[in-house]
Amino acid sequence: MGARCSRGRRRFRIHDLLRPNPIALTVTLRFIGVFLVCLAARLKAQTIAMTGYSADRAREEGQIEQRLRAIPSAEEEKRQHRYFTAEPHPAGSERNHELALYIADLWKQQGLEDVRIHRYDVLTSLPRSIAVVMVAPSAYRASLGEDAYDADPDTRNPAIRGGWLSMSASGEVTAPVVYAHSGNPADYDVLRRHGISVKGKIVLVRYSNPYSYRGFKALTAQLEGAAGLLIYSDPAEDGYKRGKVFPDGPWGPESHIQRGAITYDFLVPGDPLTPGWASVDGARRIPVEQGVSVPKIMAVAMSWRDAKPLLEQLDGPVAPQSWQGGLPIQYRFGGSRVRVHLKVDMDTKPMPNYVVEARIRGSELPEEWILLGNHRDGWEFGAVDPSSGTASMVEMTRALGQMKAQGFRPKRTLIVASWDGEEVGLTGSTEWGEEFAEELKQKLVAYLNVDWSVSGPNFRPSAIGSLAPLVVELSHEIPAPTGKSLYEEWRQSAAAARVEAKDPRPVTDDNLVETRIGSGSDFTVFLNFLCRPTMELEFDGPYGVYHSAYDDFFWMNHFGDPGYRYHTLMSQLWGTLALRLAGAEILPFDFAAYGRDIAGFASVLTGNPHVDFQPLQRRIVEFRNAGSELNSAVKRTLGKGPVDARIAGRVNRNIMEVESNWANPDGLPGRPWFKHTLYAARYTYGHLELPGLTEAIEKGDFIEAQRQAGILAGALARNAALLRETRAMLP
Ligand SMILES: [Zn+2]
Repeated sequence: MGARCSRGRRRFRIHDLLRPNPIALTVTLRFIGVFLVCLAARLKAQTIAMTGYSADRAREEGQIEQRLRAIPSAEEEKRQHRYFTAEPHPAGSERNHELALYIADLWKQQGLEDVRIHRYDVLTSLPRSIAVVMVAPSAYRASLGEDAYDADPDTRNPAIRGGWLSMSASGEVTAPVVYAHSGNPADYDVLRRHGISVKGKIVLVRYSNPYSYRGFKALTAQLEGAAGLLIYSDPAEDGYKRGKVFPDGPWGPESHIQRGAITYDFLVPGDPLTPGWASVDGARRIPVEQGVSVPKIMAVAMSWRDAKPLLEQLDGPVAPQSWQGGLPIQYRFGGSRVRVHLKVDMDTKPMPNYVVEARIRGSELPEEWILLGNHRDGWEFGAVDPSSGTASMVEMTRALGQMKAQGFRPKRTLIVASWDGEEVGLTGSTEWGEEFAEELKQKLVAYLNVDWSVSGPNFRPSAIGSLAPLVVELSHEIPAPTGKSLYEEWRQSAAAARVEAKDPRPVTDDNLVETRIGSGSDFTVFLNFLCRPTMELEFDGPYGVYHSAYDDFFWMNHFGDPGYRYHTLMSQLWGTLALRLAGAEILPFDFAAYGRDIAGFASVLTGNPHVDFQPLQRRIVEFRNAGSELNSAVKRTLGKGPVDARIAGRVNRNIMEVESNWANPDGLPGRPWFKHTLYAARYTYGHLELPGLTEAIEKGDFIEAQRQAGILAGALARNAALLRETRAMLP
């Protein structure tokens, strides 16, 4: 039957059936018969193909999920989005507290249970006054502001702050300016080769190219001995060189400023004064001088319009071709002629962060949790980042609440969370994760993060290797706004993105989901500190106003998601994934896929002749095989019908334990907070797999590398044994 029922054939057969020719009636009826058989088989095949469910349960689950997806509406998404984006709402602001109270109220109205607001007092900084003044060779004071546009009244909001970077040090200096490209270590090597030191000078760098987190630029400048750091947005990266600029297009206009934090949260995220424990009332706090994540350099964010007078007057040799930006000038290294007076006065002290939490208690397995979270704080209006995600979240919870009112209750507990202070240092989620660490390690099945839900139509999920196949499976069932399935849209946009990125890999189901995760959002504490499974969902598009005041309601309605169809799709998708995990008989994790990913992570390292990779590679194969065998056993068991609840319970406990086994209690060398042996992030926020091993090899410390390979092999062996034991439990 397989080939006959294939997608392509079915389509033309329907067309054939419409021929009004009586002679062909018998043939046609035969075709109808075949068609119906095929269709029935397909539908059956579709329901049975629900990983983790037996056929009957899959049918019920499919109906439940369809009911959920019918509820979210674009009008509601837009209404909520307008509310969240009405005013700037950075962490620590009164408005962001109001929004916390609003969400708590809303969740109560929607029928969610155990609504709570957690308060954490965490080190936060807001600007008192900032000045960047060129004193030579000519006088110029940077405006550090963003222009207002008549087309968009929100841009006139007096609450919009100027250019500033959270957690900058305070101080004052007058010094020469040096242009250091992206501000990565290799850029300073180039300067050194040209005899240019940045000691005591002010370094001017641009965002991106290649992308590195601004906190990494700050730490690098600090270590180089610079007196201050100016980070500007070059039009080559997110401005007119990319396309039409705001308010006529999605890219950043001349005065747009990318705010942000420079916290060294790649060393330890969350409140710098409580590294590794929660900043609850009465908690021990270390002196600020001992906080390793607190920057010691002054740093300011600027628009290219403010940076241009500096750039065009820099002296010294012409910078390399790759350092040239989008402005019609010759970019030079500088170092003596241009002098700037920089003054930063920050108000840095513990301020309250509010995490809102609610749940729908599970009917059968209330002690197994599916956690869904989004951060609420935005630099200004935060229409994309994060309010698109916040709108998608409260529309998803409305749907869940409505189903609960109609008598539905998921088998496992669903918890939703509105984080605070993500932008400052992943703070709210980290403190909450640290507060409930022991419970989360036991109970958390998976964390599904949505930071922003929409900046465009391109689906870009990321997940740990064992959860990636679930996203692909589910995407077939969910219709996208174009009428195609989400899967088809996703494959198309992923293929186009790879062509653009000159990535030669063909798009396959095995590499659609990004499994090299990195950091930069609220999943970090759950993945890297607690070693729990995580996933992040996102729709992307051209977005040049990130962290600027133009990331607002107008932008979303003209460029990002006019009509709010992708916001709605996110509510549907996120909710469906949560229900799928919450209702599964056997948790839908695929450890064969995980093994394949781990093999891929290792393969980029194994060329190194100083480390013996053989034991590690053997263990990877063993783990992968044990994963395949478990997959087959689960399929076979579920194929026979619903699984005995006691057996399923034991199997699921083991499945949940796999991720915990990747934990190394000592953490990464130099970064003890990061416990996961497969995943971490680089200081740049770039992805970093097998972090202990990779970093040791990159440092040339092969004794440590061998030790790290041993730790990995041990974890793989434990997990292979666990999977074999689990398979043996299945009838
Ligand atoms: Zn965000």
